[in-house]
Amino acid sequence: MTAQPNSVEARDISYHMHSYTNARRHEEIGPLVIEKGDGIYVEDASGKRYIEAMAGLWSVAVGFSEQRLVDAATRQMKQLPFYHNFTHKSHAPVIDLAEKLVSIAPVPMSKVFFTNSGSEANDTAMKMIWYRSNALGQPQKKKIISRKRGYHGVTIASASLTGLPNNHISFDLPIANVIHTGTPHHYRDAQPGESEEAFATRLADELEQLILAEGPDTIAAFIGEPVMGAGGVVVPPATYWEKIQAVLAKYDILLVADEVICGFGRTGSMFGCETFGIRPDILVMSKQLSSSYLPISALLINDRVYQPLADESNRIGTFGHGYTAGGHPVPAAVALENLRIIEENDLVGNAKRVGAHMQKRLRELADHELVGEVRGVGLIAGVELVADKATRAPWKNAGALGLLVNGHLQENGVISRNMGDTLGFCPPLIITESQVDDMVAAVKKALDASLPEVKG
Ligand code: PMP
Repeated sequence: MTAQPNSVEARDISYHMHSYTNARRHEEIGPLVIEKGDGIYVEDASGKRYIEAMAGLWSVAVGFSEQRLVDAATRQMKQLPFYHNFTHKSHAPVIDLAEKLVSIAPVPMSKVFFTNSGSEANDTAMKMIWYRSNALGQPQKKKIISRKRGYHGVTIASASLTGLPNNHISFDLPIANVIHTGTPHHYRDAQPGESEEAFATRLADELEQLILAEGPDTIAAFIGEPVMGAGGVVVPPATYWEKIQAVLAKYDILLVADEVICGFGRTGSMFGCETFGIRPDILVMSKQLSSSYLPISALLINDRVYQPLADESNRIGTFGHGYTAGGHPVPAAVALENLRIIEENDLVGNAKRVGAHMQKRLRELADHELVGEVRGVGLIAGVELVADKATRAPWKNAGALGLLVNGHLQENGVISRNMGDTLGFCPPLIITESQVDDMVAAVKKALDASLPEVKG
């Protein structure tokens, strides 16, 4: 695309540096400018409509035109456009939201701490874990185990937790005290013939060996997403979480569940923790909490975490952490209304029912010459592309095929995202079965359009 001088595209190239974008390539091809939203669809500046098969960034649960969220924000803006929770101040939206979140938590939780993004929330989790170890007189207990391919954000601490090369290379990350263990990616990392259960056992054994090698009394916590999202939609093999949790319990290691993508229905239960039997000490949430209409994130912490933090804050004089907009009343009011919509419209049930349909329909593509594996649960799925089904080899270089098919998919009116060679599907929770059929038909067309280029 060559942008016309002074066009919106040209001005984007001139003034706007993008997130997660090859900046030089952007100077050449410019942006896709999205102008409006309608349910599961968005429309670009030329009037072309797309199914937003990633719900934006895995996040717009209620779709792109929910008037109730606009009204909730407007009401709160008029009532009290800003207040904070520093130094004993509070306001109704955060109190109501905190109470609501504790009441729907998948395990008993004690308190909610509010932040603005998933990255900030995970950064906060890390700081809380260190503070707690100091409070308990265990200053050596500071290491956090995360997983290769895990995604936990981009701040210095949360990018360190993230286990993806692009978040580390040239950023001088990860920082000290972060260790990465293996990925529960059966298709890529299991040995030939290894069952899901045997693979899970091997990963749990590897984790235990790592803990023993590092020194169990130096390991404070383990962090993981119930289903890995940005790492390529990696659904853990059967028995994985049960076996990992048994190891953590043995060595008194806290568990942080990063529910930033899975939370609020994505996997067909309110939380991914319920789908996989995970019992976290800290549960991190964002994205679908407000359907991303406004930025908000939160950590639910149990008493094992809260009580030592409270003691330490009392000893020092304050808990010296908090963000100006952490617990902002407007996103909090939007989040409350969003949760009401999710409950009233049974969007979690919809994710389960329509999700089962989406999983079935996408798996029909598994026979396609370019598809290595289709995996997912509820309304989240990954279609991993390969140039050779037998060897699972990529086309040209890793990621090239993902980019090619994703381009054809966009031409066919569906916005997905390729994470390397895996296409992600994570549509708004309001999607219907017939809309899923439209989406899958476009994926089939994009695969067919790519085939001649790949097989030449
Ligand atoms: N955790 C997970 C599981 C995520 O998917 C993301 C964002 N994709 C984050 C944390 C970071 O959230 P944010 O981009 O809001 O900082």
